[in-house]
Amino acid sequence: MAVRIRQARRCHAHRTNGIACRAYAINGGTVCVAHGGRARQVRVAADRRLAEAQAFRVCALEMARTQVDRKLWQWAREQAAAEVLGLPVERISRWHVLEAQRRDPRPGWDDPPPAPRQDRRYAS
Ligand SMILES: [Zn+2]
Repeated sequence: MAVRIRQARRCHAHRTNGIACRAYAINGGTVCVAHGGRARQVRVAADRRLAEAQAFRVCALEMARTQVDRKLWQWAREQAAAEVLGLPVERISRWHVLEAQRRDPRPGWDDPPPAPRQDRRYAS
């Protein structure tokens, strides 16, 4: 369920006297309730926009989390490779990680890289 937050967007319509309406637009929409915001198709489109924006935020957050998890995963592998090969960690490349895996088959090398978690609200 999307959290309802009042947006600060103003109505784009104009009054009959030509002056801009400036009332608050409906959530997710561009017009106020007096200028079509109560119409079913306007309400449906606004709700769809809100749902899309919410899904986008959830995905962006999850992608950011996954990037951090992957960096930590890679960092742990480089640390372990540096330990096995006796090299400073800043000299460790992907090749060094593979070489360390070959030399020291310790458990944990084959752990898969972190993947984005699936949000049940958007899982198909
Ligand atoms: Zn209006």
